[in-house]
Amino acid sequence: MTQQCTCPTGAQVELGSVVVSGHEVSCVHGEPRRYVWQDGGHLQVGTLADYARTWEHHAYSGDSDLSGELRTWTESYRLRVEPLGADDNDWMHYRLTIGNESVYVQIDGRS
Ligand SMILES: [Zn+2]
Repeated sequence: MTQQCTCPTGAQVELGSVVVSGHEVSCVHGEPRRYVWQDGGHLQVGTLADYARTWEHHAYSGDSDLSGELRTWTESYRLRVEPLGADDNDWMHYRLTIGNESVYVQIDGRS
């Protein structure tokens, strides 16, 4: 990731549940990106938080026609899914990451 600003390493912004690493809230790059992705052959637009809601829905319904590739006008990103384990209430926790952005998702493991 090319640094085009003077934000300190380790800076972090959380906006609309998306954690953006490497930038401060005052920085223009601290805004979550908007992506386009495919969901069952349809194009969807939104932030990583919007994608995460769709991802949750697909995890429940078990279908897998949601693309793991998210695009901006100029770039293409691969979704990274990290399982963070289950908690005492059987909720499964995941972190979804795209470039320097990530969101936390939890899924009811009992369903
Ligand atoms: Zn910055």
